[in-house]
Amino acid sequence: MAKAKIATTSLAGCFGCHMSLLDIDERILELAELVEFDRSPLNDIKRITTPVDVGLVEGGCANEENIHTLKEFREHCKVLVSVGACAISGGVPAMRNFVPLDECFQEAYIDGPTVVNPSGEVPTVEIPLLLDKVYPLHEVVKVDYFLPGCPPSADTLWAALTALLSGEPLELPYPLIKYS
Ligand code: SF4
Repeated sequence: MAKAKIATTSLAGCFGCHMSLLDIDERILELAELVEFDRSPLNDIKRITTPVDVGLVEGGCANEENIHTLKEFREHCKVLVSVGACAISGGVPAMRNFVPLDECFQEAYIDGPTVVNPSGEVPTVEIPLLLDKVYPLHEVVKVDYFLPGCPPSADTLWAALTALLSGEPLELPYPLIKYS
């Protein structure tokens, strides 16, 4: 039987949700039996290339490259899952939503205590265009499921993935979705 395909990506996130996925420990062997990975930081494939059954996305949309990646995921994923606080609400990166963009640039590239920038200029090339604010995924594309947590636990990710891959309803018990 053909394996299901999954893809994962990190937008404006810290990779903690991917670390949590790796925390499924030895179940990773079971996962490898169940699925084939398309694009993912776990295999370092940079572009999603084929239609996949489940796409997991951590991080919100902070720049134009995040928007492009997210739309590409939406087009290729039968089921798209918003994973973790950053994807669901913007999370820590969205703290900048309360600060004007030019002040963010000033702090990041000129005034920050660890900045070394002899030119004193904000770079305008080689970095993706920053959006006016950080957006949660569902404000950009249709999202099918939300997995809360920072990060969602390995058990939560495992329960969600195995349910989605088997076509069962995604009904997570309270202990798997509460913040502890
Ligand atoms: S939800 Fe938490 S663990 Fe996941 S990417 Fe955001 S900050 Fe990192």
